[in-house]
Amino acid sequence: MRHWSLRQQVTLLVGVLCLALVCILAAGAAYIAQSRVRQIVMENETQDAVLTASLLDRGMFERFREARNLAAMPPLKDIWAGDPAVIRQVLEQLRTSYPDYAWIGYATPDGTVRAATKGMLEGQSVRERPWFQDGLKGPAVGDVHEAKLLATLLGPAPNNEPFRFVDVAAPVRDETGRVIGVVGAHLSWTWAEERRRAVLGSQSLSGGKSLWILSGDGTMLLGPDIGSKPFPEERVRAMRQATAGAFEDPSGTEPMLTGFAVAGGYRDYPGLNWIVIARQPDSVAFAATKGIVWTIMGLGLVIALIGLICARFIARGVARPLQTIIEAADKIGRDPTISQVPRVSGSAEIVRLSAALRSLLRRAGAAEQQVIEASSQHEKDKMALRQLAETDPLSGLLNRRGFALLADEAFGLHRRHGHSLAVLLLDIDFFKAVNDTYGHAAGDVVIQAIGTALNGTLRATDKIARFGGEEFIVLIHEVDETGIITVAQNLRRAVEALAIAYQDRTLSVTVSVGGALAGPDDRDIQDVIERADDALYKAKAAGRNRVTIDGLQIQLASAVA
Ligand code: GH3
Ligand code: MG
Ligand code: MG
Repeated sequence: MRHWSLRQQVTLLVGVLCLALVCILAAGAAYIAQSRVRQIVMENETQDAVLTASLLDRGMFERFREARNLAAMPPLKDIWAGDPAVIRQVLEQLRTSYPDYAWIGYATPDGTVRAATKGMLEGQSVRERPWFQDGLKGPAVGDVHEAKLLATLLGPAPNNEPFRFVDVAAPVRDETGRVIGVVGAHLSWTWAEERRRAVLGSQSLSGGKSLWILSGDGTMLLGPDIGSKPFPEERVRAMRQATAGAFEDPSGTEPMLTGFAVAGGYRDYPGLNWIVIARQPDSVAFAATKGIVWTIMGLGLVIALIGLICARFIARGVARPLQTIIEAADKIGRDPTISQVPRVSGSAEIVRLSAALRSLLRRAGAAEQQVIEASSQHEKDKMALRQLAETDPLSGLLNRRGFALLADEAFGLHRRHGHSLAVLLLDIDFFKAVNDTYGHAAGDVVIQAIGTALNGTLRATDKIARFGGEEFIVLIHEVDETGIITVAQNLRRAVEALAIAYQDRTLSVTVSVGGALAGPDDRDIQDVIERADDALYKAKAAGRNRVTIDGLQIQLASAVA
């Protein structure tokens, strides 16, 4: 990762950050949406339960009222003791107006049915039936039960389930208030099933919703497994206490969001405390929020993508001026003619970096200039020192050291390539006498004048040096036996012809010259110089102001030349 470019790093970082944000956002939204939806579902279930309970209560209240009205209505007062056919007619009338009545009958206080719809059970005793017992005491309702006496008379039920009924009953009294009979009605339980269907509508198909009716003790009256107890005792007690509410029931294969309401009666109808249960699986809440989560994920991804593109642009904006600086710095390293980076525009840091780099390079440039100047001065000083070390201060000619360097080099060439080489040694004749007669300063003037004269006589390729005291040495290139004699004579003559002005006098001196040609026997230049020195000695001995060349056996006096 450290070797990735700035642009790649920024892009990756922003990408990861955006993705993480999107995931957190989606998860958070899913959580909030789900708990909210769950709450709404539970509220809905409670509402459905409350609605169903109220429908049941109102329905029961109506039947309760009808039974009471029938028993107590003044115009009907006289019929109860009269013709049973008239009673039957009234009862039939009521049943027709409300078909959910399965049976309506009138029994005398001894429990014998005097008249009933379709004449069913007439003459039989209902003395032991709870509705009759309760009805003797006052208006009463009876909880759901299976048909005992009626079952055989009503024939088979539509779906082969046992007939089940709810009862209402009310006493019939005479003017004195004495009970003269009981009006009772069996209401088919399919009535409740219809209410249930009306509330459920199509919900049970789509959402897996179910609506149950339980008796006050928690027994299933309407729903699956009639007669079973789907909730534990404490739960039933808690529901009865709360009368309405919701809870999450984890007991089944999947958690159920469950709403409940207790049908506790309506007006003077006391109610049978049925518990209406409306429930839906928890998965509906998941299903409802799934769409939201996907939408948020999708939106988040789009935003993340936009963020990524923005990050790329920003990173490019940062990287581009950096790249310019890098390239310029790289060129400085390679190309000596470039010494500065260009001014780069960009963010404040980039501008500062560029400025800092420029000022750094200015200092580096100045330091480099100083080094160059110092080293060139050093070179100059070295040259001057060398010149000084190799020059004779009096004559301005090479000194012995300067001459030795040249001579060694020339002897090397002679050795390797066979270039001819010769050495001449010159010594001023009776120089001591000059010093003694005219003084040391006069001697110096003479040495200077002779040096200048000798140097002027020689070719540019030949080298002359002051060899110490009043001796000179000459190195001659490309020369043969005749050539060396000529050069030597020219030098001797030049000195002889010299008239040296010193103060108001004119001095003249001569030189003796000894010479030698470099030969195969010479090991180095010193051997040649030694032979020339021998020749010089011979020239001096022969009378001075003459030339002697080693090996040539001729001593050339001035007179001869
Ligand atoms: P000869 O003909 O045999 O050479 O006789 P000479 O007098 O020249 O004898 P020699 O060569 O021995 O004398 C050298 C003298 O040169 C000795 C010294 O005083 C003098 N001399 C050497 N160097 C200098 C110098 O730099 N300046 C001056 N003025 N005199 C020098
Ligand atoms: Mg001498
Ligand atoms: Mg001398």
